[in-house]
Amino acid sequence: MTDTADRIEVGSDVVAEVKDWLVDNWDPELTVADWWERLGTSGWAVPTWPSAWFGKDLSRDDGNRVQQAIADFGALPAPGGLGLMLAGPTIVVHGDNDQKARYLRDIVTGQRGWCQLFSEPGAGSDLAGLQCRAEKDGEEWVVTGQKVWTSGGHVADLGMLIARTDPDQPKHAGITYFVIDMRQPGLEVRPLREMTGRALFNEVFLSEARVRDDAMIGGLNNGWKVANTTLMFERTSLGAGGGSAGASLATAGTLAGDLERRAGDFVSSGGRKSGGGATLFGTSSKSLTKLAKANGKASEPAIRQKLMELHTFSELARFNNLRLKAAKAAGHDIPGLPNIAKLTMSHIVRQSRDLGLEIAGGYGMLHGYDTEQRKSLDEATGMPFLSGITEMALFAQGPPIYGGTDQVQRNIIGERVLGLPKEPGFDKNTPFKELPKNG
Ligand SMILES: Cc1cc2nc3c(=O)[nH]c(=O)nc-3n(C[C@H](O)[C@H](O)[C@H](O)COP(=O)(O)OP(=O)(O)OC[C@H]3O[C@@H](n4cnc5c(N)ncnc54)[C@H](O)[C@@H]3O)c2cc1C
Repeated sequence: MTDTADRIEVGSDVVAEVKDWLVDNWDPELTVADWWERLGTSGWAVPTWPSAWFGKDLSRDDGNRVQQAIADFGALPAPGGLGLMLAGPTIVVHGDNDQKARYLRDIVTGQRGWCQLFSEPGAGSDLAGLQCRAEKDGEEWVVTGQKVWTSGGHVADLGMLIARTDPDQPKHAGITYFVIDMRQPGLEVRPLREMTGRALFNEVFLSEARVRDDAMIGGLNNGWKVANTTLMFERTSLGAGGGSAGASLATAGTLAGDLERRAGDFVSSGGRKSGGGATLFGTSSKSLTKLAKANGKASEPAIRQKLMELHTFSELARFNNLRLKAAKAAGHDIPGLPNIAKLTMSHIVRQSRDLGLEIAGGYGMLHGYDTEQRKSLDEATGMPFLSGITEMALFAQGPPIYGGTDQVQRNIIGERVLGLPKEPGFDKNTPFKELPKNG
């Protein structure tokens, strides 16, 4: 438990308070590890978490204000990645005190990187159909199966794993949620190269990999409930733009190699990690407008209209987020809005892809596959974010799929919000082992 995270007085000005703290504590000469140690144990890395567990009990609104204040100040934000976004909040909700003590400190200080071992070749939208199995062996579990699409698996120390622990139960009931050590003999991570040139995700093969019994989160065969908590945090974060305002450009964990680097190197280059490539959302309506003005396309009525359409959708998404936040702050909910937010995000990404390529013209057929190529392409064409545009174009197929596909979001809105009849299903009460399997 932290003894340095103090509870904030109700009504105090959190922005002023975090700024005072930053004046006393931010030092660009620190290593990333030392800076995150200070930030994480102070309670400012995730101020919305409980004060007993490295937070300050702040509301989400105040938490966002703190994130923005840290970014405005020019300090390195809290560790990004799936530890802080998904694993930490899930453990806060479902973990016991020993587990909170074991995992949360390393999450807020970025000492460990995390990945999410949910999807399998035969279980994506139908996640509860997963076949990876865990069998008890003394004080441990032995895990065998395959996961796929594992973002950041190649730099993760720990994984959020869901595995089948009781095939005699119906498919949603016999699943358990574990924290698995990603660096062990029975676990192989194979990167998947994408058409962008990057390899952000992986296949993970588990052949009698081991998990400690006390690394089970939320109890035996209760994994579906715990996984849904993780997915809820994922959707909320994606609908809000992936937490980009507060996202750190340094990567958490022992394998990425950022912990020993100078913290100041990650904040000095105007939103880009030194030596890094274009960011996916570097192609906003503002930057596309700038580019269209620079290459004369802004005078074309069709382009102007599409720029306005993109801007309008982006603003609608922002207002919807604010509506949801305001409703939540008042203790209400707006059913379906997180799903709509996710659909809107997918739509904006596709719009940005099409418009970006239209503005780039023939240059849009050129793509840089590594940092050097991206840099020289931007320079040779005189288009400052050409590599951002082509990367957006090639990655645009991703957002409509991850975090629950667009079709699944529409199903949820139809069935749970509009009250339309559910898809017929025979698999809810049948033991998993009796169900026909994919593949
Ligand atoms: C960039 C990226 C990163 C990802 N990162 C991770 C990660 O870190 N960890 C992880 O576990 N997973 C990750 N995923 C996996 C992602 O969650 C799955 O791809 C997603 O759930 C879809 O599953 P699937 O690919 O098996 O497609 P399927 O479920 O096989 O779907 C195929 C098609 O059928 C449609 N479909 C399926 N069921 C229905 C239905 N009932 N009604 C209507 N249409 C339907 C889908 O919409 C889709 O178009 C990632 C995916 C991407 C693209």
